[in-house]
Amino acid sequence: MTVHFYSAGKGLDQGPLISAISVTPEYKLRKRLSPLHIALIAVASIIVFVLLLLLFAWMMGWLGTDHLQEIDIGLEKPVTLKQLKDVTRNFSKRNEIGQGGFGTVYKAEVQGKIVAVKKLSSHSEERINQLKNEFYTLKSMSQENLVQLLDVYNAKGLHLLIYEYMHNNSLAHALFDSKSKLKLDWEARFNICLGIAKGLVYLHEHPRLKMVHRDIKSANILLDGNLKAKISDFGLASLYTEDDQFKFIKVEVPQGYMAPEYVRGIVTSKADVYSFGVVILETVSGRTNAGHRRDSQESEFLLDTAYDLQQKGRLVDLVDKTLSTKYDAKQAIIILNLAVKCTIYMLLNSNYTSPMDDEERIACEALKKLDDEMRKEDDE
Ligand code: ATP
Repeated sequence: MTVHFYSAGKGLDQGPLISAISVTPEYKLRKRLSPLHIALIAVASIIVFVLLLLLFAWMMGWLGTDHLQEIDIGLEKPVTLKQLKDVTRNFSKRNEIGQGGFGTVYKAEVQGKIVAVKKLSSHSEERINQLKNEFYTLKSMSQENLVQLLDVYNAKGLHLLIYEYMHNNSLAHALFDSKSKLKLDWEARFNICLGIAKGLVYLHEHPRLKMVHRDIKSANILLDGNLKAKISDFGLASLYTEDDQFKFIKVEVPQGYMAPEYVRGIVTSKADVYSFGVVILETVSGRTNAGHRRDSQESEFLLDTAYDLQQKGRLVDLVDKTLSTKYDAKQAIIILNLAVKCTIYMLLNSNYTSPMDDEERIACEALKKLDDEMRKEDDE
């Protein structure tokens, strides 16, 4: 740019008097864009837009064929991962129904069918192996008192287990959660104990796959819409054969439910029988064995109370006070004695020469007999 000053003679102080300024720009006016340039800019913009779109789709997990992978939830036609993600709002907090040590459980309703989807939170190899364990274990088993595993989804970064939905949450929730609206009457409690016994007999005496569940506790007993008890959470389950009945394992001990020899690292089907005894005591009494009483600061273990009351011949005092007199005393005494027997037997017998002992069978048979008697009485 050039600036010209025009002088109109000298001023008063003898300096030049500027009469005009002219500015001449030296740059040339830019030419209009050619059609080729316009086309190039348009193409570049479209490419950037598509790339951004792809990035978004990738972040949402819509890319690849993973989202089209089919999952069998027991409908006529399998559903896709995308459908599951859509109905759980991409596994949002609003669809959450529970949290466990392995991950979060979501409620999903697809084409009118409700399922529970467990999404693994930790992707450590150990956890994934436990997940696979649960899948293969449950897939090969089918009994009305085991929660039904419908399918599993396993892909990079996402591991899901899809189960039948249990409308009444867990037994622990029904018994110990003050927010639970469920009131379990005597008949319901008795049938729950019977259901667990049947499920355990099936696991322990399966003709091909004998199994120790290893994590029987009231949080792992789920209740369907009719309050039928179903055993869940097979992540720790282990198969055993007749020749390999003693397993030495690294244990994570669920508080209050585990037999002493299991804590020492030996696991047999009796570990489940012990836990079953504890669950019966909890179900009948409405109290938890796993720590403090809800209504007081004092720490009181249910098992100790049960042993004590049994020695005084007052075991029936354990029956939940909220039931008032609305329970069958004869049944209560039989079932409470059975529970104590399941746990005491474990404590007294520390040499375990016969792991598949009759005791376990006797316990479950006793429950079955009781059930038969009840039915007969009903018929008469
Ligand atoms: P952990 O795995 O540490 O032993 P957990 O058994 O409670 O704990 P999950 O099996 O993951 O853990 O279940 C967590 C919660 O999700 C349960 O307590 C229950 O409330 C809910 N839940 C699990 N499975 C189902 C199901 N099939 N239907 C309905 N609710 C379920």
